[in-house]
Amino acid sequence: MDLARTAFYLDGQWVTAGSGETVAVRNPATEEVVATVPAGTAADVDRAVAAARAAFPGWADTAPADRAARLDRLHAALTARAEEIARTVALELGTPLKVATRVQAGLPLAVLHSYVELAARPPVDETVGNSLVVREPVGVVGAITPWNYPLHQVVAKLAPALAAGCTVVLKPSELTPLTAYLLFEAIHEAGYPPGVVNLVTGTGPVVGEAIAAHPDVDMVSFTGSTATGRRISHLAADRIARVALELGGKSANVVLDDADLATAVKVGVGNAFLNSGQTCTAWTRMLVHRGRYDEALDLAARATAGYRLGDPFDPATRLGPLVSAAQRERVDGHVARGLADGGRLVAGGPEAPLPERGFFVAPTVIADVDPDSALAQEEVFGPVLAVIPFDDEDEAVAIANNSRYGLAGAVWSADAERALRVARRLRTGAVDINGAPFNPLAPFGGYKQSGLGRELGRYGLDEFLQTKAIQR
Ligand code: NAD
Repeated sequence: MDLARTAFYLDGQWVTAGSGETVAVRNPATEEVVATVPAGTAADVDRAVAAARAAFPGWADTAPADRAARLDRLHAALTARAEEIARTVALELGTPLKVATRVQAGLPLAVLHSYVELAARPPVDETVGNSLVVREPVGVVGAITPWNYPLHQVVAKLAPALAAGCTVVLKPSELTPLTAYLLFEAIHEAGYPPGVVNLVTGTGPVVGEAIAAHPDVDMVSFTGSTATGRRISHLAADRIARVALELGGKSANVVLDDADLATAVKVGVGNAFLNSGQTCTAWTRMLVHRGRYDEALDLAARATAGYRLGDPFDPATRLGPLVSAAQRERVDGHVARGLADGGRLVAGGPEAPLPERGFFVAPTVIADVDPDSALAQEEVFGPVLAVIPFDDEDEAVAIANNSRYGLAGAVWSADAERALRVARRLRTGAVDINGAPFNPLAPFGGYKQSGLGRELGRYGLDEFLQTKAIQR
């Protein structure tokens, strides 16, 4: 399999451009370079933005039914590649193939499908007194995405932007750019007008900054770290461009005294370790009522023992490596600091056995974590669960909200009303009660430093529309 990619997708064609330099893509399970992609430059971004700008008026005027039909064709073209997508994510990110098939390929296909219908019936004009209030597409969108859900993060921007009538320039993460090539093959097959969707690969500081700072980009939609989100906001502020930011998290899983403890802990551990903990919504702080704390730690240790590390392509593997050596180093540092700060090791840790090669970190549970300590405050982005006891509901809520983040969270209780009461008190963009399933139509996004704006469903579509009042 020759995975060397040499072109960008600009103005409806594959175009060889870039600085002539390449970015290497590694298989994190073997540490080997498996592919290269071209390193874009500011000139490549100029070209992509010019194509998107030229395509905008025509695409904005296209009938909603046409836009929906094209998204439907894209969905079909991508569905035909579902297996290849799962294998590519397993290769470039290390997600176990089984999980990659269900989540990394399945979720974006579901999201894309939801926008086929939403594109067909965009928000209708509204009469307010003597005004006609109309919604119009924002314009050219720069989309900058991370590596942890390489296709989902892209589709969560691209599908609503296209449904709204915007045109797009995408820069995927340089760590996992291969999935984006499969998406653009499908886009080409679906037959979008030239310039409506464009791909430039490369690094954040070069291609990402050029997009965020570009005077002809009307909106930057970004998913990634809070630090980069801050930088992008500064760049966009210079020209008052709109930004949508999906950033980090440190979500609390509140296990009340009347919870079904076995399920709460099993699902909680699974959530914290999903995708090797590289999930922005991961419930990385488990808050357990003191009366059931020891029992919960015992259950957490036993659940953790079931997470077998290994080759992402081996069906027996439940946990893959982290995406890079740098990420592994960062996570190892968080574990060491958590233990030095008084945390008690319950499972995993620095001495746990690891595969010989690959950027692996053992799934780790640390108890008695001080809610103010680094391990309870910083986003780790690895398979590391901090467990914290509480005495009553008020204390649980106070600990949960003691965070500069506010992305997600969970509540477990046998009493549905009580769980809802606690869920309402959490200062986060989402809360799951008793392991309720993910809803791809529900708004997704953060309070506080977890971001600005919402993705998914009609809320995601709204982000790419602006509002005009016409008085008559
Ligand atoms: P990152 O911020 O380093 O990179 C994200 C993207 O931004 C990449 O494409 C990168 O090339 C680009 N980038 C980097 N520097 C840039 C700059 N100066 N200007 C413009 N673009 C730049 O994040 P990451 O390490 O790829 O992803 C991990 C982080 O993303 C975690 O903090 C995680 O919580 C967060 N995340 C959030 C969500 C969410 O929906 N809230 C989803 C996934 C990941």
